[in-house]
This record gives sequence, structure tokens and C-alpha cells, in this order.
Amino acid sequence: MKITRVETHVCHARMRNWVFVKVVTDQDGLFGWGEATLEWHTRAVVGAVQDCAELIVGEDPTRIEHLWQMMYRQHFWHGHGIIRATAIAGIDLALWDILGKVCGVPCSKLWGGPVRDHVRTYCHLGGGKMEDFYETATEDAKRFADLARKAVADGFTAFKSMAVPPTLPLEGQKPIRAAEKCVAAMRDAVGPGIDIMVDCHARPSPAMGLQFAKALEPYGLYFLEEPCWPESVDGLAAINAAVSTPIATGERVTNLAAFKDLFNARACEVCQVDITHCGGLSEARRIAALAEAHRIALAPHNPQGPVSTAASLEFGFSQPSYIICETVHADVPWRADVVQEGFTIEPKGRIVRPNTRPGLGIVINEAEVKKHPFEQELPQRVFYSDGSVGDW
Ligand SMILES: [Mg+2]
Repeated sequence: MKITRVETHVCHARMRNWVFVKVVTDQDGLFGWGEATLEWHTRAVVGAVQDCAELIVGEDPTRIEHLWQMMYRQHFWHGHGIIRATAIAGIDLALWDILGKVCGVPCSKLWGGPVRDHVRTYCHLGGGKMEDFYETATEDAKRFADLARKAVADGFTAFKSMAVPPTLPLEGQKPIRAAEKCVAAMRDAVGPGIDIMVDCHARPSPAMGLQFAKALEPYGLYFLEEPCWPESVDGLAAINAAVSTPIATGERVTNLAAFKDLFNARACEVCQVDITHCGGLSEARRIAALAEAHRIALAPHNPQGPVSTAASLEFGFSQPSYIICETVHADVPWRADVVQEGFTIEPKGRIVRPNTRPGLGIVINEAEVKKHPFEQELPQRVFYSDGSVGDW
């Protein structure tokens, strides 16, 4: 069996262009789907996928680790930069999809699963509608509460909010109090039985992140995400040590060695590896093994498209320390037209029952994808009150 070509299919989904990767073989009708979505880097990733294809066309698609090593090491530059790591991931996911189809089993079964009966999911406030999640101002605590109630009414038992505003490296109490008011309003709205997460989007400095973490600690967050830059491993470790709230990070960390540094410093309790950015399921499984050794939970980053979700769920059914899957369902109204999925979501509790189809279990409708060609993503730029550049 040989790989004959690698295609990219770009699907504009408002905030992101989903980059679907199709690896085609010389066996009749046998191909695999992956995803390499990387917002604001779409053209670069599409090019990087083609660069990787130069190495693997003509090779046996079932030698996944061997091909992964080629893509990671054989163009001299190790493949852990965000663009290359995302391109490798797109191909790697498709290779696992192919192997599952060859063996006639879901991917999770290839890895010894399923290890659980269902995977729990959480949503963004607004279900992934860009304006609700990213643009609700922290001055509007009531809106946070309303959106929290809606998430619970939609069946979710856990949701994530962006209740921490962008701040200068040091600011006074105003943003801290605003964040606290938002979280208090959400907790009031949904009660103690629902899990609330706050994503700081790595906006704060370590000093501000620590203040936000302390202020929000009494509200019993399920986790507090990226309270400072992922590069500040010591800052994350200090915050993680200072509060009982579990600290989550990892969506911008793209390789095993960098996760080793993060875990060795005990910089988090929740590993948010992104399967589509870390080199794919092959590298994510190594990262998961390392997390297991540190008893760190897995909750992969997944605001992307449907192949990413299917991959995250297959991963979840194979990893004992996997706690919850990030999902968006209302980013575009035609999501279900583009994909058929092999798993089922129970509306009450939004838990997922395992995929029963081979591989990742998904069918992508290429004609529907073509209805949404590439469009430049809307820029999301932050400038602080003094005009200096901030983090979105
Ligand atoms: Mg995040």
C-alpha cells in the first residue's frame, strides 16, 4: 500500500478556516481525514502540508511512526514550530484514520481502548459564537450569567468563559474586581453543581495572573486556564503552587520536550495539548504518557473543526487521565452539513458515546466544504489603554 497524494481542503468557518487534510492511497476508496486548522496562518499551513507531502508520497501509510519521524526530522529543522507541527498533525491524524479503516476498528481501539463508557464535554459561553465568547465585556457580569444559564439549559454540565480582561503587566484592582463579579454572577446563576472554567488567554503577566487566581479561588473553578504566557513556566508554577484552583495550560506548547519542562516545574494540573498543533495523535500519546507519570489531567484544546473533535474524542476513549473534551457547536450553523460523525452526543449532560465506525469515524462532505472557500480571518488585535500592544 502506498500514499499517492496529500490534499488540503480549506473551509471558511467565520472565525477560522478549517484546514482539512486528505491522505489518499493507491487502494480503491481508501483515504484518511486529518485537520490542520491554525487561525491567521491558513496559507502557511497549507504550504507546509505540501512540503511534508514531498517526504511521504510513495510510502506505506500504515508505518505511522516512521512517517512521523521523517516529517519531524528529515527537513533538518525539527518540526515543532507551530506551522510545521500543525501540518504534521493534519497528516498524522489522517494516517491514523487510514490505519483504523485498514483494521476495521475505531482509532481508540488501536490504542487499547475504550477506557471509559463516555467522554464528558464542555462548551464555550455562547456555544462557540465568536461574539458571545470573545467579545462579552467583563463590565457586563449579567451577560455572563445569562450565557451561563443558557449553557446549562443546552445540557452542559461544564462551560468555559473569558472573564479576565486584557491588562497591562501591572494594573490596579479594577480588572480584578470585574473578573470576580463575572465569576460570582455565573456561580450564582448555575449553582455549585456545574463546573465553571475561566480562560485568561495568557493575557495577564505572572503578577496579574496570580492576583486573578487568588481573587477567583473562592468560586471553585474547575480550572483556570493560561493565567500567564506559556513561556513563563516559572510564573505558571508559582501560580499553580499559590492557589487550590487547578491551573491549565498547553494549547500553545507543541512538543514533548516543552511539556517535560512544564510538568517538571509542576506548572499545571491540567494539560491542554492541542492534537492538531502538537504533531498529531502520535506526539499527543507521548505527551499523555508523560502527563500520566506526573498525574496531570488531560483536557485537550479543541475550538477547531469536526475532524479535530473526532480525534480528541478517540484520544479521550484511549487515555485514562482524560477528563473532558472542549467543544464548540454554534460557531457556524452549517457544521453538521460538512461532517457526519461516528459518535453520538447525549443531549442531557452532553456526554459522548464512543464512535463505532473505523478510524476517526467521520465522513467529510467535500461538496459542502467547497461552498465555504478561504476568506481571510478577521483580525483580533488588542492595544492597552496607553496604545501599547497587548495579547488577545
Ligand atoms: Mg485557551
